[in-house]
Formats: sequence, structure tokens, C-alpha cells
Amino acid sequence: MGFVCVECGREVGELYNGLCAECYVKGNRFTEVPKRLHIVVCPNCGAVKYKNTWREEDLGAAVKRVVEGSLSVSQDLTEKSSSIICKPKGKSMYICNVTITGSFRGVRLEENHSIEVVVGRELCQRCSRKEGHYFEGILQIRGDRRLPTDEELQTIVEEVRENIAALQRQGKQVFITEIVPIRGGVDLYISDKGFTQKMMQMLHHRFGGETKTTAKQSGMKNGRQQYRMTYLLRLPYYRDGDFLAQGERLFYLKTVERGKPRLIEMENWSEISMEPKMMRYLKTVGDSKMIKEAVVVSQSEHEVQILDPYTLLTRDVRKPKKMKLGETVKIVKWRDRIYLFPYEDL
Ligand SMILES: [Zn+2]
Ligand SMILES: [Zn+2]
Repeated sequence: MGFVCVECGREVGELYNGLCAECYVKGNRFTEVPKRLHIVVCPNCGAVKYKNTWREEDLGAAVKRVVEGSLSVSQDLTEKSSSIICKPKGKSMYICNVTITGSFRGVRLEENHSIEVVVGRELCQRCSRKEGHYFEGILQIRGDRRLPTDEELQTIVEEVRENIAALQRQGKQVFITEIVPIRGGVDLYISDKGFTQKMMQMLHHRFGGETKTTAKQSGMKNGRQQYRMTYLLRLPYYRDGDFLAQGERLFYLKTVERGKPRLIEMENWSEISMEPKMMRYLKTVGDSKMIKEAVVVSQSEHEVQILDPYTLLTRDVRKPKKMKLGETVKIVKWRDRIYLFPYEDL
């Protein structure tokens, strides 16, 4: 008694998704690795950061360990073995080539991956105390109306680290002295104020919101007054992909460009670049989860009849412009009104 592989036609004892083991191995991946990882070392003593503690460890060994910990290998694979070879690329990056071998139901296989490990620099606690907690600028990230999520804050911290890594590759010594998470925000103490300001501007371009710069005297140096700068970015309450309303008008936030939100008015699909100040008159009504698929029943030049996915009743929806729609469309329902979502243009 055997089964026939749908791919090669061989008769075998067992099938996996309709395939013999050899064909299954050809069409599937058994291992997964991230494209990019981060590691943080102290520029002063070389200690490596583990979650919230610091350990003395050789950087090369630490990179390998981080890569090893990021590999995910399918449970179906037996006789697994892996080799990781990491080479430094400049001062702030390692390129690691990973080879994983194993066998699936007796069929040997090998998969290869390449991972970038970005080396960030941050003074360890011990050195930070010793160096008198040196910093010139504080980058403060806060929220407005709603608190930024841990994930959003983490993205911002990684972004700053990557920019520092890029500078370090050019031989510039900028580093993070300390990262202090607070409720609904984070403070980054950074060794260079010019860089800190640039980070605030870059993040502002990308996310929008409001910025504020304050200076605080920090003592004298060579007869001149020294200042420590605080650069505050208050992230806006809105994010890319949100739906916002002003009275009876519904908008989709396509993106933020140079700090200015670009909105699509759902009624007519016109695109508006909004002054950030005006955004306070809008409120969030939901995010991209509001976009649903609906079946097209019939259509004319200016109208389409669809099945409302919430009620399964047919509804007439005005087309914002002349166009031919397919069998299904993306829609957004708000206050019992249905809008076509202009996904083709986005
Ligand atoms: Zn086969
Ligand atoms: Zn150190």
C-alpha cells in the first residue's frame, strides 16, 4: 500500500501535504532567522549588554551567541546542526553566515542565511558612573493624547542606535550614555548635542508631532558657560494607517511627510497635506483594521452595489471617480456609511 506524490508521481509510504519527503524538502523552508540583530557594547570597557545587565565577554563570541539565539528551526527537522561564521564589516557591523543542516524524514537538507548584526555603543553602568555620567543632550520622547506603546518606543531607540552605528562606521565617537524608560516615554542621554538635535528632527519628520528645545546651564569649561540641551519630541496621537474624523468627514492618514500628515478624504479621495496644528480638531476613529473586503454585486459608472460584510445586505455606494471595479473591493464602514477604500493609489 502506497501513496502517490502529486509532484513527482513516485509511490511512497507517507505523504506530507500531498508530497513525498524529497519533494516536500524542495518546496519548504525549515529554518528562519531575522535579517538584522542588534547588540550593545560599552565603548569604554567593551562589556556587552544583556537585557538590563552588563557582562564582560568577547564581542565576537557575543555576536555569535546573539545569532545563535535568534535561529528558529522547525520541529520536523532532526539531526540538526548549525555553523555560524561572523566577520566584522567596519567598526559597527558584523555579517554572519549561518548554515543549518538537518534531516526531514530521512532526507538531508541544508539552508543558508546571512544576518547583519549592528553593534550599538552605550556606556555601561560602571563606566557611566566613573565618567561622571557624561552627556550633552537628552532626547525625550513623549506622547500626546495617547501614550506611545513600548513597541513604538523600542523602534525609536533602535533607530537612534542605527544612526549612531552609521556615524561610528565613519570613525565618529557618539554614544548613548543612558536610556531611561519612563511611563509613556523614554529619555536618551547622548554624548553629542548636535547629533541629539538631528535625531529629534529626523523623528519629527517621520512621525510628526511637536518639538521643544530647552537649555540648562551645566557649569563652566575654559571660562565659558556650558549647556546641556533637552530635545523633546511629543509624538502625535495619530499614526500612519489611522482613520480620523472631523465632524461628519472621514479621513485616512496615508503617511507623515516632513512632519505633516497627508490625509485622504474618504468621500472623494482627495489628498490633503494638513498643518499639524489643525490635527487637534480631528479625532481617531480606528486603524487599518477598519478596512474590510466586500463582494461587488453590480456596478454602474458612478455607483457600485456591494454586500455589506457586517450585515450581508446589499448597499449602494457612490464611486468617488469613474472606474471599473473588480469582483471584490476594499471598504470602510463608519457611522453606517460605507466608503470605498482607494487602496490602488496607496
Ligand atoms: Zn515527490
Ligand atoms: Zn564600560
